[in-house]
Amino acid sequence: MATQPRPAAQPGRLLWRVGEVFEVVEETPTTKSLVLSVPGWEGHKAGQHVDVRLTAEDGYQVQRSYSIASAPEDERLAITVDRIEDGEVSPYLTEDLMAGDGLELRGPIGGYFVWERGLGGPLLLVAGGSGVVPLMAMLRHRAASGSGAPAKLLFSSRSQEEVIYRDELERLAEADEKLEVVHTLTRSQPEGWEGYARRIDEEMLREVAPSPSEEPLTFICGPTPLVEATAAALVELGHDPAGVKTERFGPTGG
Ligand SMILES: Cc1cc2nc3c(=O)[nH]c(=O)nc-3n(C[C@H](O)[C@H](O)[C@H](O)COP(=O)(O)OP(=O)(O)OC[C@H]3O[C@@H](n4cnc5c(N)ncnc54)[C@H](O)[C@@H]3O)c2cc1C
Repeated sequence: MATQPRPAAQPGRLLWRVGEVFEVVEETPTTKSLVLSVPGWEGHKAGQHVDVRLTAEDGYQVQRSYSIASAPEDERLAITVDRIEDGEVSPYLTEDLMAGDGLELRGPIGGYFVWERGLGGPLLLVAGGSGVVPLMAMLRHRAASGSGAPAKLLFSSRSQEEVIYRDELERLAEADEKLEVVHTLTRSQPEGWEGYARRIDEEMLREVAPSPSEEPLTFICGPTPLVEATAAALVELGHDPAGVKTERFGPTGG
């Protein structure tokens, strides 16, 4: 697998600044998108992230990374946060923050896990849970820039209610015959579900992924076990490790 270099320091771009929450959108029962107006934002590439910093009244600070969900073409910057029950930061972002509030952030960060129209395709995107966020930025950019690159998203969620961006993904795929979205629901499935109902494995990838000879540009994002298992299976299937880029969000599996 291509290893992820440490993000290069980008002086001037990494200043902390305060964005204003323009809108809070409920995506699933545990996930919200925060749409932000960020004065002086210089733009970003699909796949990059921001750091968010919270400061308590006593001065205690904590920071976390969140992928940018919006396309570079969008007017405002959006992040999508999944609430981790015992988490320090995500419950505040998903439960307490409201339109009009300020949020301290810096970025954009990362130059490795990015896709731009000029890179072409085919694209193979594999997501687990909130790992779909940077991949959604790529799909939004692909749509907004009129890229005709064939793209497939294989998206693992626990249940249908927990599928982030479900309606938008359906709309995008319906409007575009070169985009295919394949879901797997690992814990519960709606009645009559005929799709995948297990964790992503080699057999699933053999069925869904473009063949190695098509040399897809592959982006995998989600919990560490999903990312590692998927990347290893793709290499096992003959995909060039140099074309497989990964981003790990958290320590646990889904
Ligand atoms: C580059 C990058 C981009 C990211 N983008 C996003 C994003 O777009 N949306 C998003 O929701 N998160 C994203 N994350 C994860 C995010 O940074 C936080 O780790 C997450 O929100 C949990 O923070 P917390 O303070 O609530 O939990 P913490 O207080 O840090 O952790 C509480 C408990 O939850 C566990 N935990 C921590 N993170 C996760 C996780 N991701 N999944 C499951 N268990 C976890 C910890 O081991 C601990 O037991 C990204 C991470 C990275 C490195």
